[in-house]
Amino acid sequence: MFKHSLFPQLFLILILTLSIHTSFCQEMKPVELQFIPDLPSLNPRDAIFKQYSQDVENAYKAAARQDMYPMFIYAYTTSESDTVISVASRCNIPKETVALLNNLSSASEPVSGKTLYLPVNAGLFIPETPKTVLAQIVKKRLLTENFAFEQYQWYSINGENFCFIPNERLTPTENYFFLDSGMKSPLPEGILTSPYGMRISPISGTEKFHSGIDLAAPEGTAVYACLGGTVLVAATDATYGNYIILQHANGLQSVYAHLSGYAEGMKEAGTFVTAGDVIGYVGTTGASTGPHLHFEIRTGNGTTDPESLLP
Ligand SMILES: [Zn+2]
Repeated sequence: MFKHSLFPQLFLILILTLSIHTSFCQEMKPVELQFIPDLPSLNPRDAIFKQYSQDVENAYKAAARQDMYPMFIYAYTTSESDTVISVASRCNIPKETVALLNNLSSASEPVSGKTLYLPVNAGLFIPETPKTVLAQIVKKRLLTENFAFEQYQWYSINGENFCFIPNERLTPTENYFFLDSGMKSPLPEGILTSPYGMRISPISGTEKFHSGIDLAAPEGTAVYACLGGTVLVAATDATYGNYIILQHANGLQSVYAHLSGYAEGMKEAGTFVTAGDVIGYVGTTGASTGPHLHFEIRTGNGTTDPESLLP
């Protein structure tokens, strides 16, 4: 018979070691989500939907207490009129929570007849292996921020692993991409000559942050608005030469620099443009070594890589 009263310290150490080991394993091993009740409809009178709505409400209450409600996932097979936004809003769950868990990249993606997994907790499901552009953009952002994925709970559903970040949402740029991923290329025939990020400046020869991308094309080639919006400013300076800044929804701006000239009406601030409208022409004005378009996306707190948003 083991008399543990004779070895209290040893016994305690053994328990501690075991519990540390167990919690470490739980952290690293995704929790398999198997129990998936089927929602026959999203009708508030339906008993299973009532249960789902109650779970969602409890999950929000738990989140307000800095706590997390157990992760339950329901499944719902969509009808013809459903979109990811209509389903998410009827479930009172953020659209990005539903989109990322179901590998949907844009609000306009058809979901009709598809079985969607509907979690009860709001947040972002970051796939271990992103399958969509949206998931790639979000994961890239989190990796840049050195996000500690290993400190969060991982879940496995249908053999796919997701890290769940409670209460996290899309940034305005990501949101814009999700709502309107129909961003058009400002210069479809252009050749990418310089990507976004750190580079040796062709003008000064020193290392500098390149806040946009350079697309080379013959002088006079038409430049298109990448998204709908209004002209914020059309002006000339020593660096950007002739440039236009368009204002879009959600605080997003697009910048077109080194233009040889402007399309009609585009020098007036406030002019409305639709995605794909000609706004100006490729040139080499300002600090430029040859005809090209410098294209930049501003997000309100900096710039983002336009290549991650372009088709
Ligand atoms: Zn440039």
